[in-house]
Amino acid sequence: MADGSAAETIFAVATGAGRAGVAIMRLSGPAAATACRQLTGAAPPPPRQAVLRRLREPGTGAPIDQALLLWFPAPASLTGEDVLEFQVHGSRGVLAVLADSLAGLPGLRPAEPGEFARRAFRNGRLDLTAAEGLADLIAAETGAQLRQALRQLDGELGRLYEGWRTRLLAALARLEAEIDFAAEEASVPAGLAAALRPDLAMLAAAIAAHLADAGRGERLRAGLQVAIVGPPNAGKSSLLNLLARRDVAIVAATPGTTRDLLEVPLDLAGLPVTLIDTAGLRPAADPVEAEGIRRARARAAAADLRLVLLDGARPDWPAGLAPELLAGAQLLAVNKVDLGQVGRPAALAGRPVLALSCRTGEGVPELLEQLQAQAAALLADGSGPVLTRARHRSALQATHAALTRLAAMPADSELALQAEELRLACQALGRLTGRVDVEAVLDRIFGEFCIGK
Ligand code: GDP
Repeated sequence: MADGSAAETIFAVATGAGRAGVAIMRLSGPAAATACRQLTGAAPPPPRQAVLRRLREPGTGAPIDQALLLWFPAPASLTGEDVLEFQVHGSRGVLAVLADSLAGLPGLRPAEPGEFARRAFRNGRLDLTAAEGLADLIAAETGAQLRQALRQLDGELGRLYEGWRTRLLAALARLEAEIDFAAEEASVPAGLAAALRPDLAMLAAAIAAHLADAGRGERLRAGLQVAIVGPPNAGKSSLLNLLARRDVAIVAATPGTTRDLLEVPLDLAGLPVTLIDTAGLRPAADPVEAEGIRRARARAAAADLRLVLLDGARPDWPAGLAPELLAGAQLLAVNKVDLGQVGRPAALAGRPVLALSCRTGEGVPELLEQLQAQAAALLADGSGPVLTRARHRSALQATHAALTRLAAMPADSELALQAEELRLACQALGRLTGRVDVEAVLDRIFGEFCIGK
């Protein structure tokens, strides 16, 4: 599948935008060595050794910067191509002049977004799931997200799926061989299709178990959505501000001021949690508020967890809304306990309720503790490979569906039909890692059966 180096050499700043002590300009492609000579007046340094050199504009010889060079000749590089990195001072001026100088060299052009990873994939340095892991690692906001992305980048998922695909390919190869050579009564054992069934059933069960993860990996990647819901003025915005330790939501004494949904990402001991403040749930006074309430309901229903916040100053909060909210809430808290005399609505009978004060901070550590425990139960814990995207789920579902259809066929049914289901199962897995190719099936047929006639 690797189609070798692309003819064009690409370059891009690999580090973040803005002023910094150091920035990295990365080049990949066949002209990287030439670019090195043009800019530094010498061939690339020894592989993987940092060497300090003066960079000059190729036309004028005007100095650009002092740079640390790193040279990774193909194929042992990030992209599988010749890669050169310049560590320069991270100023806009240096990077602009360097980029201009590179763009002026023959065969060089600025890289498209994701083009380095794309070349790495094309050259077999990364499978598709690892490439996704790389993207997730760059986007990770908490420790748990980072660790999940890193495992995926390291190939944990790719190896699992490739292992399954290899087993399917072996089964397919045997079936194909039986189809092709059964008529000739060659030395292929009969009844192979039936003999394959137990292993395929085990594989289907493994895929089903992997799919039955309750979305833990996907949720860890995206962040856990926690909706704070409750009557107006209960202190939802105050709680959000308190937890976020910054003023993000409007806190006001007039009910009905939070009309938009506000989201605050939190790092809860490494777990990514997004808190969503919703408009107070009460009969709306005007159309704008009604829209806010509609969105709040939809969002609360779609969230992973719901925290219902009650107004301790008004234990008689609108009874009409209570059953719906209470039924869907994983966490219940009564706010404003600092006012004393906090009542307990009859609707809460028998349910654990946290006593809270956003004013004094009472009950906040307990609330965070409970939130963290609930989040941990819903998020992947790093104990094994977990799928992290809808793309993985749908490909695995397609694989599983094909295996299920195959299992439902009588063992003596048309071999070509059985092979077709196996082929579909293989293709779905192959799309997952990006390694779909029919040549592999042929290789297996001839490799496994030594049909040398
Ligand atoms: P929301 O409508 O649910 O978002 O409620 P807000 O956060 O805007 O708070 C409504 C009012 O209650 C504001 O005047 C807050 O200052 C007040 N409030 C919030 N939390 C507490 C608390 O723990 N104790 C007291 N005494 N007042 C609070």
